[in-house]
Amino acid sequence: MQQEIDTAIETALTAAPKQLRSREVGSVTHIGGGIARATGLPGLGAEELVRLPGGVLGIAINLSEADIGIVLLGDSDELGAGSEVEATGREVDTPVGDTLLGRVLDATGRVRDGGAPLQIQERRAVEQPAPPMMDRAPVQVPLQTGLKAVDALIPIGRGQRELIVGDRQTGKTSIAVGSIINQRDTDVISIYCAIGQRGTAVARVVDALREHEALERTIVLVASGEDPPGLQYITPYAAMSMGEYFMEQGHDVLIVYDDLTRHARAYRELSLLLRRPPGREAYPGDIFYLHSRLLERATHLSDERGGGSLTALPIIETQAQDISAYIPTNLISITDGQIYVSPELFRKGMMPAIDIGKSVSRVGGKTQLPAYRKVAGDLRLAYSQFEELETFARFGTRLDEDTRATIERGRRVREILKQHEYQTLSVSEQITALLAVNSGMFDGLELEQVGQAEQTLRAQLLERHPELWQRIDQGETLSDDDWEQLQQALRSAADSLQSDPDEARDHGND
Ligand code: ATP
Ligand code: MG
Repeated sequence: MQQEIDTAIETALTAAPKQLRSREVGSVTHIGGGIARATGLPGLGAEELVRLPGGVLGIAINLSEADIGIVLLGDSDELGAGSEVEATGREVDTPVGDTLLGRVLDATGRVRDGGAPLQIQERRAVEQPAPPMMDRAPVQVPLQTGLKAVDALIPIGRGQRELIVGDRQTGKTSIAVGSIINQRDTDVISIYCAIGQRGTAVARVVDALREHEALERTIVLVASGEDPPGLQYITPYAAMSMGEYFMEQGHDVLIVYDDLTRHARAYRELSLLLRRPPGREAYPGDIFYLHSRLLERATHLSDERGGGSLTALPIIETQAQDISAYIPTNLISITDGQIYVSPELFRKGMMPAIDIGKSVSRVGGKTQLPAYRKVAGDLRLAYSQFEELETFARFGTRLDEDTRATIERGRRVREILKQHEYQTLSVSEQITALLAVNSGMFDGLELEQVGQAEQTLRAQLLERHPELWQRIDQGETLSDDDWEQLQQALRSAADSLQSDPDEARDHGND
């Protein structure tokens, strides 16, 4: 009899659907700080997604015999000891696709712009392997930021990783957002990934993107400072997965991470709560890997893989200009160069406050359009020489005529490199300005007049030689004759400028 019952039970069990047999449910023992501890899920995989009551998701991180550590991706207000934890058998994933463009959302796919819920076509795991070396191609095409200081002196290529580093309130976000805005007339798709910021700061960026008609081609992915640290932790990886979706279709993608200092802090908080051993500056041992595995995914794919690219502009905030602190040094070593913004330059009104001498771009130079080489070829060197001379001249040294001329020219170049927030310029507009200052057109003007004179000259020249400028914008190499023609146009425009300073002022106010 007993045997018959046993057999019956066994048959019934074998016939039952799998999920009935092994629906793994555990129970929360402790909750707090965006972390939960739970027991009773012996079959759980590392980094597996778990579901808690109220649709809250979590990532199983620390698996030990005694209990598991769960990083929560949603609010834990409704949860407490005894809440059920259910395994999902899935990895953490994020929505990807065209429907995300123009939207503000978080990594789990919830919208944050008050609009309709997302139409999700496809989801992808947030963690993906970086493309193997075989699939990568050298960086070949420039990514124009629209900023003279960057495009002429620290050029960035599509597929490059360029760090923007500096103290708080020095214009880091403005440089990155300006770069996104400058893509509005190109085929580049942008992702602005905000991590750990205040809601108002993100709203300001969204407004700027909308106002400058760049939002349509941009995804704004947000994990604010009020969100659980777990959500902040996965957000940059989600942004990468969203970008990879487009890159694999052959598109060029630009991702801004604003900022990875706050990302590192969120990860440190999680790690300490999970009682992982703290290392330098209390960060866990794998903090370097945290950011290197992220930025390794930015690349330019080979033609066989469709030729798409993913350019990354991570932002890092320094304290008291200390770029040798732990997180900044890590990121400097992971990226292909850095744009260093200085609080002193910012205070002096030299905006964007880019310190040219401390900034570098290691791969973008090869991609720079030929016109820049013509007008800014040795500008970088000349500019740093000027900066040294200027410091030296402050000691009241008597200067010879040449030195004085070098300093005066340098000061005018500095005026030309100034650019108002989000007022990005096309290649031809930049080239006219640089050509004019290099040819000494502004040497006779007071420094305060340079900005206005630049605008006048630019307008006049672009008007007179539209076909030449179009060719420059398209990246063509101009012949010597072409350049001679431009120089002449420049000279006559400059003459009219000197003879009629009032007109210069009128144009400047346009
Ligand atoms: P935070 O550390 O708070 O993130 P940040 O370094 O990202 O600051 P931004 O927010 O970009 O700096 O800029 C700081 C302030 O300076 C803003 O009010 C911005 O409008 C202004 N600003 C930045 N760049 C320029 C510029 N080129 N011209 C004029 N104003 C600028
Ligand atoms: Mg900022």
